[in-house]
Amino acid sequence: MKRESRLKWVILLNVIITASQIVGGIVGNSMALISDAMHNFSDVAALALSLVAIVLAKKEATYSKSFGYKRAEVLAAFVNSAVIIAVAIYIIIESIQRLQISQSLQINNDLVIWLAGIAIVANGLSVVFLAKDAKNSMNMKSAFLHLLSDTLFSVAVLGGGLAMKYYGVTWVDGVLSILIGVYLIATSWRLLWDSAKILMQFVPEGIDIPHLVMEVEQLKEVKNIHHIHIWQLDEYTIHLEAHVDLRKDLNVSETHEIQKRVEELLHTNFSIGHITLQFEHGLDENKKLIQ
Ligand SMILES: [Zn+2]
Ligand SMILES: [Zn+2]
Repeated sequence: MKRESRLKWVILLNVIITASQIVGGIVGNSMALISDAMHNFSDVAALALSLVAIVLAKKEATYSKSFGYKRAEVLAAFVNSAVIIAVAIYIIIESIQRLQISQSLQINNDLVIWLAGIAIVANGLSVVFLAKDAKNSMNMKSAFLHLLSDTLFSVAVLGGGLAMKYYGVTWVDGVLSILIGVYLIATSWRLLWDSAKILMQFVPEGIDIPHLVMEVEQLKEVKNIHHIHIWQLDEYTIHLEAHVDLRKDLNVSETHEIQKRVEELLHTNFSIGHITLQFEHGLDENKKLIQ
């Protein structure tokens, strides 16, 4: 089976778990099931995203979309993580309220046990599906580890169901949902912040502008570099635009060699792949680094 079709199977499995857990959670009155379902839903969304990204990335740029759809994945990751955080907050608030009346809650323990069991089997199958890819791709490895941790969550929900059934401790349901909610916020927060940084065109992590300036200004033809903008188009491509003051009033064709060297330097030392430079000599304007 190809990687893409294996990914599709894992998505299908997760959709089944999610749907059955949501229905089971509502019918069986179990917050733990609903929050575990939310967790599985966030996984489906993340997996579907990587599939959609694979498809969209193949689309060519056009006259009206000169960047193509390169930011679709970032935008989707932002919306996705924001929604998950909102739902997780709702789950936590709802669970705290339910904890106060946990004695009187009528939870269908058998449903919780069965659905958690199904989730364990389905997640376990997903782990097996991805195990082969996990060895040779970082992306797949993280998906693999994630599904493994999901399986453990469902084991916890199953344990909760058993505890409720045999010991009558109904507060377990609320405590488990709160823990899963906190875990969801903790993991989605990073994704929300990372995608927001790209959308806000912040300078990518690991690039220090003063350091970059120092390196470029070591080229003997370069007097200074100013009016710099650095941003990330998507997860993979970093863009830079800047003005470069030259020491001599060169012919345009003579600047090509300098441009090549600046590009090489920025590419090798800062992984910047898309560079636009404006060469100047004796131009009277604002030479601030950032403007
Ligand atoms: Zn997960
Ligand atoms: Zn300038």
